Amino acid sequence: KKRPLPKPKWMKETIPGGAKYAAIKAKLRELKLHTVCEEARCPNLGECWSGGETGTATATIMILGDTCTRGCRFCNVKTSRTPPPPDPNEPANVAEAIASWGLNYIVITSVDRDDLPDQGSGHFTETVQKLKALKPKILIEALVPDFRGDPSCVEKVAKSGLDVFAHNIETVEELQNMVRDRRANFEQSIDVLKMAKEYAPSGTLTKTSIMLGCGETPEQVISTMEKVRAAGVDVMTFGQYMRPSKRHMPVSEYVTPEAFEKYRSLGVEMGFRYVASGPMVRSSYKAVTQVIITSHD
Ligand code: SF4
Ligand code: SF4
Repeated sequence: KKRPLPKPKWMKETIPGGAKYAAIKAKLRELKLHTVCEEARCPNLGECWSGGETGTATATIMILGDTCTRGCRFCNVKTSRTPPPPDPNEPANVAEAIASWGLNYIVITSVDRDDLPDQGSGHFTETVQKLKALKPKILIEALVPDFRGDPSCVEKVAKSGLDVFAHNIETVEELQNMVRDRRANFEQSIDVLKMAKEYAPSGTLTKTSIMLGCGETPEQVISTMEKVRAAGVDVMTFGQYMRPSKRHMPVSEYVTPEAFEKYRSLGVEMGFRYVASGPMVRSSYKAVTQVIITSHD
């Protein structure tokens, strides 16, 4: 049996704290809301919620419940074929909570809901609309499932008033089956990103993310980047895969900061409007910077 790889020194974690952190946490509990920041035990939590050095706080909130109909090998979210129905008050609760926190940027994401006729797209749309009505200046990224490739779901969300339409391909084309649930696949995800670009008002950014250290080769990373760029995607992020527990897929490799930097500069050369790439980068990490930079050129 192989032992887990030792964590290199660049994989440091920050400790959550501060008044803003405490306020967000209390409100989440009160309204029974879930965040990816907590569920995935994200090492950036302290920095994101408090705004870190930049004063730009972000959080990733999870809607449509805490139970997913799929089971990806890297993911720590609970799964079930028959999760409870979505809470009809959730869009209003989420909007109210987020509007009260003074965040400049919010990522709204969800579990996959293959059990719902609209895959949860209506719930997403309502949440974005309610939040924009309460707080028009906030930047909203919707990080959505593939909606099983259903164009009507993609269209609804792309036209909801969001600022960034994100959908994660998670890994290189060659490792899709090994890493993601079998209902997900590369072509379907690329199609979702293409459709979103077509349906969304001009100026809306599209975005995707992959985790490195799952066993991919540099050549596979580069050819995946080329296909993503060809789909018109504006922003791409790269981070290190970290195993949430021993039951999950092991880490194949800790990719060096230098290698991450190479992918970043290559991505910029390929024409992405923004690339975030580093061991601690998560798709939502410093997302506000990603969008501010891209909208000022
Ligand atoms: Fe949350 Fe994303 Fe920040 Fe992690 S990087 S704490 S998931 S907002
Ligand atoms: Fe996790 Fe996969 Fe479900 Fe997303 S679709 S919440 S990655 S199990």
